Amino acid sequence: MSTITIRDGLIVTQDAKRRILRGSVVIEDSVIASVGAKADKSDVVIDAGDRVVLPGLINMHTHVGMSMLRGMVPNDNLDVFLKKTSEFDSRNTKEMIEVSTLLGAEEMLMSGTTSFLDLYYSEDVIADAVAGTGLRAYLSWVALDEKFTTQKGVPIKNAEKFLKGYAGKPLVTPSVGLQGVYVCSKDTVSQAFDLAKKYDTIVHMHLSETMREVHDHAGKYGERPVAWMGKNGFLSDRLVAAHCVWLEDAEMIALAKAGATPVYNPISNARLGSGVADVKKMLKRRIHVAIGTDSTASNDNLDLLQDMKFGALINNLAPQDVLDMATVNAAKALRLDAGSIESGKKADIILLDRAGAFMSPTGTRNAVSNIVYAAEGRSVSISIIDGKVVLDGGVLLSKKFDGISEKAGRLAENLWASAK
Ligand SMILES: [Zn+2]
Repeated sequence: MSTITIRDGLIVTQDAKRRILRGSVVIEDSVIASVGAKADKSDVVIDAGDRVVLPGLINMHTHVGMSMLRGMVPNDNLDVFLKKTSEFDSRNTKEMIEVSTLLGAEEMLMSGTTSFLDLYYSEDVIADAVAGTGLRAYLSWVALDEKFTTQKGVPIKNAEKFLKGYAGKPLVTPSVGLQGVYVCSKDTVSQAFDLAKKYDTIVHMHLSETMREVHDHAGKYGERPVAWMGKNGFLSDRLVAAHCVWLEDAEMIALAKAGATPVYNPISNARLGSGVADVKKMLKRRIHVAIGTDSTASNDNLDLLQDMKFGALINNLAPQDVLDMATVNAAKALRLDAGSIESGKKADIILLDRAGAFMSPTGTRNAVSNIVYAAEGRSVSISIIDGKVVLDGGVLLSKKFDGISEKAGRLAENLWASAK
């Protein structure tokens, strides 16, 4: 058994009472063994006196395979965005997806994300690329109607092949995705939920992102997307729905009742002018909300702390609610036994410098406020995932990231040269 002791830190536990303690955290193999107590001997001792100890952040909506598109898409509306990105997808290569994935994984690990939920095709390539980096990956193979896809083969069949082939791999959890109701018929949505039930996993999709999506859907089916999902039996606790910008009150109540998880993407929604999700009202309706960055093409960072700050500010949310979205709420939606620092939970833990320029002074009274409003990705100095140190002193330990930004630069030059 290997043990790590994080000694004398300021621990933001995110337990049921949201306690903030001064003390130590002991990790045995991949699990938290004790919190708060004085520790005996350990294989590794991390002196945490000048750091905040926090559950690892969970980014609940990404497309890491698109990381090469950072800064390449103008801040036009979603329709123009999707046209541009699908143009890119049609020219995307396996090597570009691998490099994109590593760029995204690097940025997430360096800024405190310990798990992410991705939506894309070629999730097999993404799973192989992310393996060995230490990051915990939840990967949803995107399905859509055959007539709209750039995938080879039938998307829903590709999703099932991925679910079968990648079950049980360390740190990778496969699931099924849907691009959105604008390219998914009732039959496609139904097949995705059947797969999720069969493999006991989640359905990850875009939902009610733009006013246009809602109006077009209502025109075609006589119902708004979320109401239509409810009527067809698609609202459940398996559903993780990115955006949810345009919801009527009845739709919010339906989402709450079903136990579904909307994912707040405040920066991406602002970048594309999609609107501002009414998260304050969602919380009042007791909806279980999570938070995500979306891709670098519409964010342009995968630093979740930026979305937490921006999202808190534009909706005037309580910092504690936003921290819950990035930790306990996300873990619950993913059925991941993490998101809080309690004995028996998975050891996914990050340490933020509270003595540094960005967060000083930080104590028990203002820790949560400072995490949400003051911390920066670069405040994160240590990251432990599944009981293993993956980031130490701000430096990633995996060799997989060596030379990756140079490689991305070279590939991007080719991509730009051939762009329309
Ligand atoms: Zn998205």
